[in-house]
Amino acid sequence: MTATQLKPKSTATFRALKCKECGEEYELKAMHVCEYCFGPLEVAYDHNALHRTVTRESIQAGPNSIWRYRPFLPVATDTPIDVGTGMTPLVQANRLARRLGLNKLYIKNDAVNMPTLSFKDRVVSVALTRARELGFSTVSCASTGNLANSTAAIAAHAGLDCCVFIPADLEAGKVMGTLIYSPTVMAVHGNYDQVNRLCSEVANTHGWGFVNINLRPYYSEGSKTLGYEVAEQLGWQLPDHIVAPLASGSLFTKIYKGFREFVDVGLVDDKSVRFSGAQADGCSPIAQAFRDNRDFIAPVKPNTIAKSIAIGNPADGVYAVDIARKTDGTIESVSDAEIIDGIKLLAETEGIFTETAGGTTIAVLKKLVEAGKVDPDETTVVYITGNGLKTQEAVQGYVGEPLTIEPKLDSFEHALERSRTLDRLEWQQVLV
Ligand SMILES: *Cc1c(COP(=O)(O)O)cnc(C)c1O
Repeated sequence: MTATQLKPKSTATFRALKCKECGEEYELKAMHVCEYCFGPLEVAYDHNALHRTVTRESIQAGPNSIWRYRPFLPVATDTPIDVGTGMTPLVQANRLARRLGLNKLYIKNDAVNMPTLSFKDRVVSVALTRARELGFSTVSCASTGNLANSTAAIAAHAGLDCCVFIPADLEAGKVMGTLIYSPTVMAVHGNYDQVNRLCSEVANTHGWGFVNINLRPYYSEGSKTLGYEVAEQLGWQLPDHIVAPLASGSLFTKIYKGFREFVDVGLVDDKSVRFSGAQADGCSPIAQAFRDNRDFIAPVKPNTIAKSIAIGNPADGVYAVDIARKTDGTIESVSDAEIIDGIKLLAETEGIFTETAGGTTIAVLKKLVEAGKVDPDETTVVYITGNGLKTQEAVQGYVGEPLTIEPKLDSFEHALERSRTLDRLEWQQVLV
């Protein structure tokens, strides 16, 4: 790797890696931890350059993907890896709102993000574009499932070698959704936190680009686009309240950073946005720290159906707690049963089939409404980050069954009559 590859071109707006704790700055290479205080590194930008170059019009003239926000992302190239990631629908969720007693509820639907149906395509598109600029030929990740799908797919598109690490007990859809791209897949007997520790060692010895380890500062910036898009799709305005799931806490903190940058550059008016976070009871170290009013995270051993957000030792947990606190939001957790109900509620009211992380977020939204923590008239945006077809095990046995019939009209009529009778009986049970 040569020094010129490390330096962005003059049009680039990112200028250094900066420690979130002590402020020490580093060259823009593949590293993620401060050598002095061990704090996490974050990408720093030239805000004057952003001010000069970015307008609403310049963004709208860009591609219909996350790359319309390229000046806010840590890549130097004008030809990033663009697989259509981003610009997912912001759906006005009127039926779900009515069910919950709200008036202005939106779903940001990354269950249909491209190419692998989760928000991880955003972070991976950025990380692999930067990996290519830094000269890596093999990319890798420690994943709870969705990240492996994304890394394998986008590496295939970009022609990069790929080796991913997952816990061995993942859902079948997540495993197949990786294998199909023919990467090397290491299924580790252990939970995500053990997978992640192993990967840190591999990153040191093999010189691979791990999207969420040595490339993490670049990777995590991709999540800011979930903030930018919502602001743009609301007509260049910030919402009043957002609810998002927390695994490492990175996504949550980067939506916040995205909103702040849009305010700083003058693309939207300043406004206080409340940030509320969602975890599963079976892996809720961030919610527990929030509840106990602690400034540190006590790691836990995950045990929940919400595997995609089951990180027991979350890297950005303390920053997530800080944001929830200072924005007057909250961080809540829900049971696996509530998560299943959340998945079904979103499907039945809005026609969106989300995975367990989305069920967690909807269940937390419901809990917050019931506790009076959502103003019915505030603009609330709920982030749905993954697709339910990948976690079918979670709802197996909790949905109805097809009515199997003969290819004859009377067989159909008979079955229809029977199902209506069953519906009526169910309703009577609800009423008594
Ligand atoms: C990874 C993931 C998250 C959360 O990611 P963090 O940035 O680590 O908090 C949320 N939802 C889904 C579906 C995910 O795959």
